[in-house]
Amino acid sequence: MIYLDYQATTPIAPEVRSAMLPYLDERFGNPHSPHRMGREAAAAVEVAREQVAALCPPGGSLAFTGSATEAINWAIKGSGGGIVTLATEHAAVLDSARAVGRAGRDVQILPVGSDGLIDLDAARGAIRPGTGLVAAMLVNNEIGVIQPIRGLADLAHEAGALFLCDAVQGYGRLPIPDNVDLVAIAAHKIHGPKGIGALWVRGGVSIEPLLHGGGQEKPGRSGTLAPMLCAGFGAAAELMQERRDADVDHLDRLWHIATQRLGPEWTINGSFAHRYHGNLNLHCDGVDATRLISNLRGLAFSAGSACASGSGRPSHVLKAIGLSDSEARSSIRLGFGRYTTEDDIEKAAGMILEAAERQLMWAV
Ligand code: PLP
Repeated sequence: MIYLDYQATTPIAPEVRSAMLPYLDERFGNPHSPHRMGREAAAAVEVAREQVAALCPPGGSLAFTGSATEAINWAIKGSGGGIVTLATEHAAVLDSARAVGRAGRDVQILPVGSDGLIDLDAARGAIRPGTGLVAAMLVNNEIGVIQPIRGLADLAHEAGALFLCDAVQGYGRLPIPDNVDLVAIAAHKIHGPKGIGALWVRGGVSIEPLLHGGGQEKPGRSGTLAPMLCAGFGAAAELMQERRDADVDHLDRLWHIATQRLGPEWTINGSFAHRYHGNLNLHCDGVDATRLISNLRGLAFSAGSACASGSGRPSHVLKAIGLSDSEARSSIRLGFGRYTTEDDIEKAAGMILEAAERQLMWAV
């Protein structure tokens, strides 16, 4: 199986697995217990916290959560005032915003251009006094485009609002602008384990807790932490830092091969220039992406985000950049990274071209 679904999740790095195993076995203590085993587990959690926070803006505090979805829910539901966000955000942002909207908060969902990018002048008109939170992604999980986060965060501050950056896909790959107030991340997108995320909170910013209880995490999150998952997240973050240049060079090579091999019949969805090179979202007129995925059993790739692809509805992101229903249904998302080889990409592109050609032949 050639795995090309890195935006859905990434394979665990061997170094991450090794860092986790002791906490699954003999070091099983509760990090909130006062005895030696508890203190050892707590020390491992604190090392991991520093490793993960090292890729966030300086200062602030970082709370581990059960997922990025929880971190996003916490930031949105724990803040006040109106919310401004973008039409291409993840469901965790859009659905949380709609939920607080039903409870009476003003919610504005801004359109993006055909390149998938927000126009800062249009955003300036919408982000006004009374806005409490502006939320936007660093790297889009479906089309890989990179939003102008620094500019959006400046606009939020000019209006007296906080800025939440959903950095799930960009964390460890691109620098997170240092003027953001809240950052949501997840370990499983950086070769860490599933079931753990984090919310970074700038010093001096306070939000209401989402989960009430023992208050184990400082900025206000309750629940016993899993040292095994924290240690895995920390090791994964450290590797992202150590391997950043090698990972970027490798991705640039894979991107070049994939775009050259797939050729002009496949049109890239979203900006060509402002994008992360581990994502290739493209469409080929007349191709049925769902059939392509089920025909190519040796390839794992997707037609959109893993959460939305089961719904049968065309992707809200592809619709927001102006694709027709049929263009959206003929779109595929290829996600690759550290453990993808050049040979994988060559083979996968060949398989996709052949299967698409077969479909188009039968259609005439
Ligand atoms: N935000 C983005 C951009 C994502 O890609 C994802 C996961 O796909 C999430 C949020 C939610 O992350 P999780 O499902 O790990 O909670």
